[in-house]
Amino acid sequence: MPYLQVPKGTRDIMGKEIVLWRKVEEVVYETAKNFGYEEIRTPIFESTELFTRGVGEGTDIVQKEMYTFTDKGGRSLTLRPEGTAPVMRAYLEHGFAVQQPRVKWFYLGPMFRYERPQAGRMRQFHQFGFEAIGFDSPACDAEIILIAWRIYERLGLHKLSLEMNSLGCPSCKFRYIETLQQFLQREIHSLCDTCKVRLEKNPLRVLDCKNEGCQTIFQSPSFPRLQDFLCEECSKHQETLLATLRFLDIPFSINPRLVRGLDYYTRTAFEIKTGELGAQDAVGGGGRYDNLSQALGGPKVAGVGFAAGIERMVLLLNKMGQGLHALETLVYLAPLDGEGELHLLVLGRRCEELGIPFYMDFADKTLKYHLKKAQKMKVRFVVLVGKAELQNSLFLLKDMFSGEQWTLSQEELLKKLQEEKNSA
Ligand code: AMP
Repeated sequence: MPYLQVPKGTRDIMGKEIVLWRKVEEVVYETAKNFGYEEIRTPIFESTELFTRGVGEGTDIVQKEMYTFTDKGGRSLTLRPEGTAPVMRAYLEHGFAVQQPRVKWFYLGPMFRYERPQAGRMRQFHQFGFEAIGFDSPACDAEIILIAWRIYERLGLHKLSLEMNSLGCPSCKFRYIETLQQFLQREIHSLCDTCKVRLEKNPLRVLDCKNEGCQTIFQSPSFPRLQDFLCEECSKHQETLLATLRFLDIPFSINPRLVRGLDYYTRTAFEIKTGELGAQDAVGGGGRYDNLSQALGGPKVAGVGFAAGIERMVLLLNKMGQGLHALETLVYLAPLDGEGELHLLVLGRRCEELGIPFYMDFADKTLKYHLKKAQKMKVRFVVLVGKAELQNSLFLLKDMFSGEQWTLSQEELLKKLQEEKNSA
């Protein structure tokens, strides 16, 4: 019988790749701490209504991509396709809007979308996201972008571009959509089939269609531009934000057709892209969502945030040749017989207590096997215990990089390993 396989669009994350995942996660936690963002963990599934109301009925996510099911109690539930609506749900549910309206939170975890899987696009994927709720200053939009930027920088992901746009407030958006629909109606013959449907259901989404016919329409000099429909306050917000980004030395370009796939965005929308991953070029994105709370039945609450995909970041790190060591083991303990095995396990316990990462293999007792394995693992030190060492309670320490070796007592050995660990 063939082995069972993971469902399409999902995968096991293991081996060397785990190092990169941990690295991304560590940088996220560290950066969150530095900027004063607290972690929030929301459920993997939520009521379906949260996403139909929060993300928007007309979006691709709600229309085509949700994993929705009815539980045994007859409730319609959905595996979360994104993190912002759940975060806002939690904010409202726990009374923050009244008691402590300004919060800064971050999350990290799996998301689910029924998409056509390909490299960098999965049905179960992982995002981390930062949300600042209750702040309407454009400086807060800038802080959110700065956080994203710092995380990429700390990971050494440099060749990235930041695209900025403003979608305006609901009244700017409404006026723009009206004009856009009229314009597109006149050009309907050139629109692709998907955009003909979008034109009715979610006209803004037409703007980021990649179809050639649609692209030609966008090039027309009379194509209405969102910027021209921004009210004074929205323009001011955008200008201040862009000036702040310049102050922070964060390079960006304006992409007037950047709309993003979720309905809740108002004013700021941004996306961070890479040229290294082909079609799946977005590594993160976000924006302001001053209407989300109201869409969920709450009061008017400002909010701005971003989410980034960990799979794509790991793909990028992998491309850069990072994370070659699956484990950061400092010392390999190589028993050459059963008695040596007992002694080395006692030594292993001391190593662990002192925070010295060790690895011990019980499969074989030959020197050749152990040295080969230690070499493959790229471990710096090997500790060997043979009969002679056992008799004298000594250990043979070998530096695999320099070839040097020493015979040491347990305390001398641990002292040396600790020094090496601290200088690494
Ligand atoms: P979004 O929530 O659509 O704004 O996406 C934010 C980020 O999540 C994107 O920039 C991607 O890096 C990542 N992402 C979105 N959808 C997927 C997916 N299906 N597979 C992998 N990563 C994704």
